[in-house]
Order: sequence, then structure tokens, then C-alpha cells
Amino acid sequence: MNSEIIAIGSELLSPYRQDTNSLFVTERLNQLGITVAFKTIVGDRPKHLVDAIRSALSRTDVVVIMGGLGPTEDDLTREAVAEAMQVGLKRDPELIAQLYARMAARRLTMTRNNEKQADVLDGAIILVNPRGSAPGQWLDVVYGKHRKLVMLVPGPPSELKPMFDEECVPRLREVLPRRHIATRVLKAALIGESAADARIAPIYTQFTDVETTILAHLGDIQLNLLCSKPILELAQARVDELASRIEEELDDLIYSSQGESLEQIVLLHLEMQGATLSVAESCTGGMVAERLTSISGSSRSFVGGAVVYSNELKTEFADVSPTLIERHGAVSREVAAALAEGIRVRCDTTLGVGVTGIAGPSGGSDEKPVGLVYLSVSDGKKTEVVERRFSGDRDRIRHYASQTALDLVRRRLM
Ligand code: ATP
Ligand code: MG
Repeated sequence: MNSEIIAIGSELLSPYRQDTNSLFVTERLNQLGITVAFKTIVGDRPKHLVDAIRSALSRTDVVVIMGGLGPTEDDLTREAVAEAMQVGLKRDPELIAQLYARMAARRLTMTRNNEKQADVLDGAIILVNPRGSAPGQWLDVVYGKHRKLVMLVPGPPSELKPMFDEECVPRLREVLPRRHIATRVLKAALIGESAADARIAPIYTQFTDVETTILAHLGDIQLNLLCSKPILELAQARVDELASRIEEELDDLIYSSQGESLEQIVLLHLEMQGATLSVAESCTGGMVAERLTSISGSSRSFVGGAVVYSNELKTEFADVSPTLIERHGAVSREVAAALAEGIRVRCDTTLGVGVTGIAGPSGGSDEKPVGLVYLSVSDGKKTEVVERRFSGDRDRIRHYASQTALDLVRRRLM
């Protein structure tokens, strides 16, 4: 079953406000096995509203219309739906009474324009709104020979969310054929979106009954798998089968198959092996430590470390010899290794990590360009160093460096 979400309000077409309601509604619809085929944002202009509603009805079965239910001049949703669907609109005396009572309870006098919130579309069921004045409406009608479900819900998120959960979801569940949804989230580190897609598209395109979406962000790829079937076990089996085919293909690039973050996985590995970790960070300025300590319980395996931005502190806190820095430069393979091993010994941990690089935009040279980062992990016996050349701005380079450092630890522990 297909749906369209219409967000109404000229402010949503300005640079200052964003339609976030539709993300919430999409999640709920997906959980019910309803796909969102279109999202429309439309300003408070009667003709545009009518056009948007008609086109939604012409191409989808479920239409969720959000906003424009208030009392003001620019709240035109009810009128627009009435016109688009050619149904009548009648003022409901009981709703008017409720509106007056609600205002009186707050010691406010109600102005006449508020009464239009009591206008109800012919055949609509009223959706109560205990958190605001404008009620929602639910229409289950035949339109152009097809059954259509149309919902009118208020714009303020604090009213929309509970109303959708309490009034719309149960009604949708009742009218929809029974479906069960299974989902899986796979995550991969440090592979580009297109490279990942090129490898897995031949696999997931064979699973036409599983919806696969790829989200990529700063060296992190999230694959969302979703399957809806009349029987949960069937849906789960399909999602699991696709997940294991993808895991086979991407192999150790996949760090999580249940949606955990990279830092969570690193901590999990550390804990399982009874290992501890410390870090000496230069260009990441504590980002690796920040990411690890954002996870509750990280103190069981992450002890801490140092931000060693200056050469002096590299020596003072991680015992990197000044002559080593002089000979190879602070951004070098040798210094990264010395940082990892130095901090490991200083903090008495199983593993130590060292990061040194040039985040830019200034400070680069031909020999050592902006984006050059050396990362090291040491366990006292083996000290591994990798060289990376990241592109992009300072933020991106620093984030990729922290991602690479965490992934290096993960791989060492695997
Ligand atoms: P009201 O009775 O408050 O006027 P309404 O149903 O008429 O309710 P709108 O006037 O369209 O709703 O929107 C009220 C407020 O709700 C907006 O100023 C905005 O802050 C928020 N809002 C509206 N639509 C959205 C949306 N799609 N996503 C996020 N916030 C929204
Ligand atoms: Mg309004």
C-alpha cells in the first residue's frame, strides 16, 4: 500500500522551518507496512492546496495531511480537502461547544474565527486532540472508484505525534491486511557509498521483497533492510538471508549487523577480550576519546589518554623522544607509532592508539599535504601504523581520522 504525506504551511517553504513531522509519520507508516511514495510540502494558498491534495489522491491510497487546522486565516486545510474531494463541510455544534468549554477552562474568551475548527468533512470521523484546540479528521471513502484513507492532523509536533499514535495508527491497523515487518541494520566503515553500492546492488536487487536503503555519512555506511509479510518468520527469514549475503560480500568492512555504532563495537570487543585502551591524539584533539566516552559503560575498557597537540606534550605525556620528532616531523609514521606505544605504557593498557596529522586548511606542504594522517595501534608486541590521505575540510578530515582510529582498533581485536 502506497501513501503520500502532505505538509502544509508557507513557513515550511522558507529557509527557517523544516518539515520534521513527515519523518515521524513515515516511520509509523513503514512500521505498518505502508510505503511512503511521495512527500509534498505546500504553502498556504488555496489553489495549491487543492492541487496537491488531488494529485496525492490520484496516485496513492493513504494520504496524511498535516497542518493548517488552526483558527487563523491561513489555516485552510479543511476547505481545501472539501473542495479537492467534492465533499461537504459542516460546522459541528458539539465541537463548537467543546471549543468554548476548552477556552473557558483556560479563562480565555473565544473569538468567532475559532469556530471554523469545528468544521467537519462529510463522512469524517473526528480525531480528538487533548493537547490542542483543532481536532483531526479521518476519512475512509471511495474516491474515483478507489478506496482512500485520508487523515487531517494538526501541525504542531506535540499535537501531531500523540494524535497519530492514538487515533490514526489503531485505525490504520484495523483496515489494513495483517502484515509483519522485519528489519535489520548493517553498518560498514570506511567504504564509499558508491563503492559499497556497486558491490551489493547485484545482491539486494534480487530481493525484490526487501526494501534496502543506504545512508552514508563521514566514513560510515548504514544499510537498512525492511521486509513486510503476512507472517513475521517469513519476513525475518528474508531480511536475515539478505543480511548474510551482504555480510559475505562486504566481509570485514561490516562492523555491525544489529545497528550498533563503531564506538560501541570497539568497546564490545575490548570488553569481550578483557582488554583496555588508551589514546594519544594530536589532530583529532580528543575526538576518539569523545566518541568512546559517549557510550555508557565505556569506563570498563577505555581508561583515557591525552590530547598532545604540541611537540612538547607529545614528549611529556607520551614519551615521544624530541629527536624522533626532529628527525621525522610531528606528522610521521614514526611519531604515530611512538604515540601509540608511549601512551599505552604510560596508561598501562592493553592497547594504545596514536593519531597525528594535518587537518588543514593551513599547515600543509608538498611533502606533507593537508589531509595526511598517520594512525597507529600498539599492543606492546606489534605496533601497526597506517597512512591515510583524507580529502575535504578540517571537520571531515578530523572525523575520518577518528573513524579510522576506531576501525584500526576493531580490526586489531577481531
Ligand atoms: P495551530 O492550531 O497551532 O495553528 P495547525 O494545525 O494550523 O495548528 P500549523 O499552523 O500548520 O498547524 O503549524 C503550527 C506550527 O507547527 C508551525 O509553526 C510549526 O512550528 C509546526 N509545524 C507545522 N508543520 C510542521 C511540520 N511538517 N514539521 C514540523 N513542524 C511543523
Ligand atoms: Mg495554524
